[in-house]
Amino acid sequence: MASTITPARWVEIKKDFPTLARTFNGKPLVYLDSAATAQKPQAVTDAVVAYYTKHTANVHRAVYELSAEATERFEGAREKLRKFINAKSTKEVIWTKGATEAINLVRYSVGLNLKPGDKVLSTLMEHHSNFVPWQQLARRGVEVDYVKVTPDGLLDLADYEAKLTPNTKLVAVTQQSNVLGTINDIRAISDKAHAVGAQVMVDGAQSTPHMQVDVQAMDCDWFAVSGHKMLGPTGIGILYGKERILEQMEPFHYGGDMIKEVKILNTRWNDLPNKFEAGTQPIAEAIGLGAAVDYLNGIGMGNVRKHEQDLTAYAMDKLGKDASLTIYGPRDLSIRGGVVSFTMKKVHRWSTTCTRRTSWTTTRTRATSARWRSPTSRRGRTTRCAATASSSSCSSTGSSG
Ligand code: PLP
Repeated sequence: MASTITPARWVEIKKDFPTLARTFNGKPLVYLDSAATAQKPQAVTDAVVAYYTKHTANVHRAVYELSAEATERFEGAREKLRKFINAKSTKEVIWTKGATEAINLVRYSVGLNLKPGDKVLSTLMEHHSNFVPWQQLARRGVEVDYVKVTPDGLLDLADYEAKLTPNTKLVAVTQQSNVLGTINDIRAISDKAHAVGAQVMVDGAQSTPHMQVDVQAMDCDWFAVSGHKMLGPTGIGILYGKERILEQMEPFHYGGDMIKEVKILNTRWNDLPNKFEAGTQPIAEAIGLGAAVDYLNGIGMGNVRKHEQDLTAYAMDKLGKDASLTIYGPRDLSIRGGVVSFTMKKVHRWSTTCTRRTSWTTTRTRATSARWRSPTSRRGRTTRCAATASSSSCSSTGSSG
């Protein structure tokens, strides 16, 4: 699909991000770490400031006008997120602190019902946040296994099918790898998991900011979103879950708005989504994330994806000309996002003095001569560069970035 945004318009868009106007050492900032966290457009900061300067009140707890305003903005943001990922209902959109907390919510609540002999299947291309929570279940006798990655950076689907058994209760997989850029076919993964009765937890931290996401089309059971990676504030994200499944799950935290009725010996949980939202929520951050969704919609996710594909092609072409570099991940841009990981001969991962200046980056990069191992191995760090709509991103990462 062709972009409907002209090159001149992209230059204008960059001006929406005040931090990108800064200079360092007399040179304009080229921000290459968007996969770790994205810069914020002014509209997002304005929405947060407006809550604190004009609409501050708690939500859901009062009928006076100020509280009604805050509630309207807070719930309005939830509806924006619902639409953005195409969930059926706002009951399926739960505010969390970020993608990590969303995954841990599922890990806690589903983990309560797992017993020795049950199996959880994750993959070797996960971020720590979708790896360690499941790994830790092994200490309780749950079998935890990991799908391998092929040499060209794809999920090994033959290995997936071989490891998927009737004992598999949950499959945890990323939609877009933060290490390899690989975009997984979640619908195919979900269909196979559902065929053996397993549920599917998808880490959408790197996909949601960069491509059109549709949880119904993917038919995943849960989907984790990170707000700060999609131009929103830090400390906010969402967990999408199918309503039927969320109804059956135990709450994660107790207290505050997640309660409908308390008696001395018993408590009734609130209706969805509040059942999973204990205590006062990050109201300003949720409203800010709603503004980020408005901003991304203004550009259009199709345009974001196309622009990033162009930047990724450019980065891979330039990097590919350097014989000392090995680039990882798929070459086919239709199944990869903007992250470009590479190793550089004779440069150690902690050697931060490597100042490679190419026409597309003037930032200092860290690289490693260590070969790529599991993304979870801190010893196998790679340098990762990612292209994003408003800039490009580059950082050293294991799989924690
Ligand atoms: N999953 C992936 C693929 C990530 O890249 C990250 C962040 O780097 C996370 C999860 C964690 O997201 P959050 O910071 O919102 O907890």
